[in-house]
Amino acid sequence: MSVQVAAPAVELKELSGPMDKAAGPPCEPVTPHPPGHGVAACPLPVTEREAAPAPSCAGERPPLSGCPGLSAAGLPPGAAKVPQASAMKRSDPHHPQHRHRDGGDSGGAAAEALVSPDGTVTEAPRTVKKIQFADQKQEFNKRPTKIGRRSLSRSISQSSTDSYSSAASYTDSSDDETSPRDKQQKNSKGSSDFCVKNIKQAEFGRREIEIAEQEMPALMALRKRAQGEKPLAGAKIVGCTHITAQTAVLMETLGALGAQCRWAACNIYSTLNEVAAALAESGFPVFAWKGESEDDFWWCIDRCVNVEGWQPNMILDDGGDLTHWIYKKYPNMFKKIKGIVEESVTGVHRLYQLSKAGKLCVPAMNVNDSVTKQKFDNLYCCRESILDGLKRTTDMMFGGKQVVVCGYGEVGKGCCAALKAMGSIVYVTEIDPICALQACMDGFRLVKLNEVIRQVDIVITCTGNKNVVTREHLDRMKNSCIVCNMGHSNTEIDVASLRTPELTWERVRSQVDHVIWPDGKRIVLLAEGRLLNLSCSTVPTFVLSITATTQALALIELYNAPEGRYKQDVYLLPKKMDEYVASLHLPTFDAHLTELTDEQAKYLGLNKNGPFKPNYYRY
Ligand code: NAD
Repeated sequence: MSVQVAAPAVELKELSGPMDKAAGPPCEPVTPHPPGHGVAACPLPVTEREAAPAPSCAGERPPLSGCPGLSAAGLPPGAAKVPQASAMKRSDPHHPQHRHRDGGDSGGAAAEALVSPDGTVTEAPRTVKKIQFADQKQEFNKRPTKIGRRSLSRSISQSSTDSYSSAASYTDSSDDETSPRDKQQKNSKGSSDFCVKNIKQAEFGRREIEIAEQEMPALMALRKRAQGEKPLAGAKIVGCTHITAQTAVLMETLGALGAQCRWAACNIYSTLNEVAAALAESGFPVFAWKGESEDDFWWCIDRCVNVEGWQPNMILDDGGDLTHWIYKKYPNMFKKIKGIVEESVTGVHRLYQLSKAGKLCVPAMNVNDSVTKQKFDNLYCCRESILDGLKRTTDMMFGGKQVVVCGYGEVGKGCCAALKAMGSIVYVTEIDPICALQACMDGFRLVKLNEVIRQVDIVITCTGNKNVVTREHLDRMKNSCIVCNMGHSNTEIDVASLRTPELTWERVRSQVDHVIWPDGKRIVLLAEGRLLNLSCSTVPTFVLSITATTQALALIELYNAPEGRYKQDVYLLPKKMDEYVASLHLPTFDAHLTELTDEQAKYLGLNKNGPFKPNYYRY
């Protein structure tokens, strides 16, 4: 049988130094795969690569120009210079980059762009107004009722209603039902430019922030390194993220680096009221509280951007709602906006859609697909939180339990490692022979789900796929089998098939249901098949530290980049900055990094200061 190798889906375009090839994930559909999956294999045979001369430094950028806080003095050796990101060039002739370069196509997108490829500002694009967003109301409603505040229409984005782990441990510490929009509040300095649940909770929030600071070493290091030098001086950042203690550490770091910030929540449930109060007390205009209605949600975003005498020049978004609000309501603001930094899969997907349609009018940085962030979100975070989620919901002991993990990707590997370490007997199911072989090499039995479904105590799905656990599997499970999902969506377990008249559902705890068969057999279904760790436990602060540092560096990079360096496209964080994020976290572990000698650097064809791996490298 001959094996056909598909042609690469994308070709790489170099914008800068030869080491800085970065490819974005495919525009459509956005998959959970890390970037580079569609990238051609190494362009040089290994031998040629080894023989290749060390890349010249000519292609490198100077230290963050206009970003003295991260100049040679600030960055560790090996990160004194920051490379340019490279854009993905699609072979699709309709891709906006083609249009920019060719001066336009039938859509005339180049002529329409707000910020043209050479960096000059032009008229607001006609197309911006044509973008189809969720319908939002022009006028904000009167205060909704309590029930109304909880009821959401479909126009609010999915990410804005997803539950968020860090919020799980927080209490809604106010039983005051008055809407914050109806309250007159001032902080101790007399400012009322904020809207939070209760400013009096600020002191409690400050304690939360101080705890988070302990586990966010990189941001604290950035603050120290940038002392006296302000790489974000003049930056006016409007943010829309979860408002938690970790976000507060990020915002205060951005403030220390010279930025002015205004902030709203990207999720109606996840705001920690105490933290929002602490931020408002220290002078940050924050508009967020836990349990916002949909109308509140958009009102808060609007209060961040629609303000007299202040206009944002950077966007930090998580989910894309803020970006889309500005596109829809204030497209002219993009004349002053230097870039968008987007964290979530959903938001990045929206940006790629805009880019593909030629409607993205400023550069955007996709931090979701940074290597460090992906590794921490998928592998290390799940390795820690699978046990936490199972313990909190079931109080179970893991030693000796038989567990089947469906999918041996990053999430599956993390789950398996944690359970194995606790003494569980772990089986793995896989469809991909490479991951399957990895599972074997790691000492797991590779099985088909049918083979073990009768005997296992726990079933965990982490495939990103659908109907991995079917009603037939559920019927055959033994009494008290625990069933849960660590994948993105609730499609992996066919929960709908359990909602039939012969089965009885019993809610035994928050996020724990017993589903009982007519013969008395029951299975324990966790979080109704939604993501276990995000629904039932917390994400470690250290994981969020990686994300927050990546966001801060992306903002610095976009804000300080000379005009024209970044086009109206979606970029990955330069590899070298990804490496820098990791290096900022190493001192926590008293880790000592080896430096390449000149001879070794030459031998490997690397710059001594990195980047140390090509973009196609799989960590
Ligand atoms: P991945 O692509 O690395 O791994 C998924 C694996 O599942 C692949 O190896 C694939 O071959 C395998 N698979 C697909 N269909 C299967 C089937 N029917 N049976 C058995 N195996 C199958 O992805 P990942 O990074 O491991 O992420 C997995 C899911 O977890 C995604 O939905 C992702 O969005 C989500 N995720 C969750 C968290 C969390 O905190 N819980 C964090 C990151 C990602």
